[in-house]
Amino acid sequence: MVENKCEDRKACGNCEISSNCSTVERKDHERKRLQEKLFHIKRKVMVMSGKGGVGKSTVATNLAASLALRGYQVGIIDADLHGPDVPRMLGIEGQRLISSGNGVEPVEVFPGFKAVSMALLGQEPDKAIVWRGPLKHSAIKQFLGGMNWGDLDFLFVDLPPGTGDEPLSVSQLMEEVDGTVIVTTPQDVALLDARKAVSFSKQINIPVLGIVENMSGMACPHCGEKIDLFKIGGGEKAAKELGVPFLGRIPIDPGVVLSCDAGEPFVSEPNPSVAKTAFAQVVQNLLEGLAWSEKEAARPE
Ligand code: ADP
Repeated sequence: MVENKCEDRKACGNCEISSNCSTVERKDHERKRLQEKLFHIKRKVMVMSGKGGVGKSTVATNLAASLALRGYQVGIIDADLHGPDVPRMLGIEGQRLISSGNGVEPVEVFPGFKAVSMALLGQEPDKAIVWRGPLKHSAIKQFLGGMNWGDLDFLFVDLPPGTGDEPLSVSQLMEEVDGTVIVTTPQDVALLDARKAVSFSKQINIPVLGIVENMSGMACPHCGEKIDLFKIGGGEKAAKELGVPFLGRIPIDPGVVLSCDAGEPFVSEPNPSVAKTAFAQVVQNLLEGLAWSEKEAARPE
């Protein structure tokens, strides 16, 4: 059980930020409101990658969906403010965040699974966000403290590639992050950048829950022969070298692309496949890494 760090929860819940508040009071209200929201979230996981296009959002949305399908209460923040793909991948594109008495309501993907993203604010989809660090920090603060997340077992944060403003803001605002999941593809160029994500995590004292090697081999659709398009095993080797856990390999599967584009999490596909089993293994390893009790980790899908 997560410890209550907010000493003034009741007062915080009863007070409102008003135009009469001084800057100091406003900041204090915001801090308490953030603590109050975070108090109700058991596990917080940042999903990172060194490079774009390695399948970070795909892995983040599918890990989150997988846990929600197992019956956990799950939220996902799309902190890739410049390229928010989560709504498209979860089939909630075109929906809007709505204010309620308790903050802004995240969009429900399906019961037990909620999401928030810049792409749900009603802006023109093709318009670029031109923001510097402080504005991004405010947006992330709003996604954490201004939302009515309710009680969550897991909150995933899908970060943009690299180690810039966004991961730093998330780690500072959340105060206690359970860990990072680092997604990479197996080739050397991607691994070079994944190593930087591991180093970033270590420098800001956030445990690395593990590396996921995505797009790791594929079966030829014609003859079934295995092709290692981007090589294989690099993620596992890097994990060993860096002394961090390896969460598993996910092969290239055209079904993943189709489900992403269709807005259906791949893990909710009814048909069994090698990639689906691979996702289940990554989830299992993640739960074990989070020191989730054996009973919880063994809960059926
Ligand atoms: P990132 O968040 O790292 O930029 P995305 O998650 O947006 O990457 O994925 C980029 C593209 O790769 C998407 O079209 C997605 O469907 C596809 N993709 C990701 N993982 C796989 C996979 N294992 N097999 C096939 N396609 C994948």
